[in-house]
Amino acid sequence: NGGANDTKNLRVKLVLLGDSGVGKSCIVLRFVRGQFDPTSKVTVGASFLCQTIALQDSTTVKFEIWDTAGQERYAALAPLYYRGAAVAVVVYDITSPESFAKAQYWVKELQKHGSPDIVMALVGNKADLHEKREVSVQDGIDYAEKNGMFFIETSAKTADNINQLFEEIAKRLPRPST
Ligand code: GDP
Ligand code: MG
Repeated sequence: NGGANDTKNLRVKLVLLGDSGVGKSCIVLRFVRGQFDPTSKVTVGASFLCQTIALQDSTTVKFEIWDTAGQERYAALAPLYYRGAAVAVVVYDITSPESFAKAQYWVKELQKHGSPDIVMALVGNKADLHEKREVSVQDGIDYAEKNGMFFIETSAKTADNINQLFEEIAKRLPRPST
């Protein structure tokens, strides 16, 4: 082992799931473009964006990000997006218990129909709205732990923990054997 030539370049399919309005598209926009647009449009169907990050061990990870629409009428299409995904990011809004319940629905879906070695992250977004918080940090931690998920709270608005989310995911990816 060692030497400058064993850099690994990983490419992974990542799907975002969660209720409409929790901030999935804003998280992606913050991560990929470094922007927050409070007037961003509702996602119809799904959209696709890529972003590459470099880890400290000089591994690069190219995320192929599928941002899905949360509306009920698209729920039947969701398996098309999470099928074959190496990573699922399930997002809720910390001000919305309904969205936390919906996140749990998506986790169960992924456990039933996702690939068995999928890396799952649970994300409590809108952490900047702390006066309106209705889902405790501990509830997020507990649910994630029970389901073998990585947990983080983010704010797409302030950029808090957005890069950390993707870096932590990258660290948890199974590495191709050499
Ligand atoms: P999606 O339906 O899950 O893709 O949600 P969007 O990304 O379209 O965001 C829905 C709404 O929440 C928009 O009005 C955003 O401006 C707002 N929003 C998204 N992320 C945050 C955040 O971290 N903090 C706050 N305060 N608002 C956010
Ligand atoms: Mg959206």
